[in-house]
Amino acid sequence: MAEVSDVVAAVDVGGTRIKAALVTPLYDTLASVTTPTPKDITADIGAVVHATVTDLLARAAQHDRPARLVGCGVVVPGLVDETRGVGAYSVNLGWRDLPIRDPVASLLGVPTVVGHDVRAGLLAETRLGAARGARHALFLPVGTGIASALLLDGAVVTADGRAGELGHLVIDPAGPACGCGATGCLEVIASAAAIEREYAARTGRIVAAEEVAERASAGDPDATAVWARAVAALAQAIVATVTITGVDLVLIGGGLAESGAALLDPLRADVASRLTFQRPPRLAQAALGNLAGCLGAACLAWDAL
Ligand SMILES: [Zn+2]
Repeated sequence: MAEVSDVVAAVDVGGTRIKAALVTPLYDTLASVTTPTPKDITADIGAVVHATVTDLLARAAQHDRPARLVGCGVVVPGLVDETRGVGAYSVNLGWRDLPIRDPVASLLGVPTVVGHDVRAGLLAETRLGAARGARHALFLPVGTGIASALLLDGAVVTADGRAGELGHLVIDPAGPACGCGATGCLEVIASAAAIEREYAARTGRIVAAEEVAERASAGDPDATAVWARAVAALAQAIVATVTITGVDLVLIGGGLAESGAALLDPLRADVASRLTFQRPPRLAQAALGNLAGCLGAACLAWDAL
């Protein structure tokens, strides 16, 4: 018989997928699962998390890695009231003031904490990923949307759950309308979805953002223009953040970061060209990929115990 390990359940509830894992105090993963987010998740999020964790415990036992659940961390997007354990507002998941901590804790019977997916992801990058040893950092996942989180003086900035909405920094007031009510936000110019939309508007061809990057590298003039505009918008937002906060590390995550040098090389050059007196930040790809939020949920759960 294998020894029974103490674990926390780490659950990242995203707009399209739930990623969940059982994680030991040394951040070993005993079992993990990714499932589609149910359409009616707001109806009973406690039951959804409970079913996911029950499945994980069964998988761990099947693989002779028996686990004893001692805590749970749940991370969600949008505005999060971490003190009350409530999802305050999520455009993508369609909830307002949704209690999460209490229903999950009562069904699982273990202490439960609720956090923000991107702030938790940054916490995980500081412990397990590309921000290890950093005192100040901007974590900027660029995917379907654009989010961010800040590490300043060694602490992840929360500001009542409202910090880091860099995706809604207005870059071009004459730009496209954004779902937030403004026009020309970073998110509607430089997200993967925005890049795909802009390239399709110019060419009539629907291709993924990564392919726009490849076409830009190959000299396609439309792809080059769209990519350069996105890079310039990201550089402007990064330099604004560096100027205000003094961060010296910028970690690019999310799907767009998978483009690697095609994104980071021009972005480094564009950021450098905009700096005058500011300390030049190091720009790097985040290390934990799409597991950052889930591992961050584990960090929050272990910290709370
Ligand atoms: Zn906006």
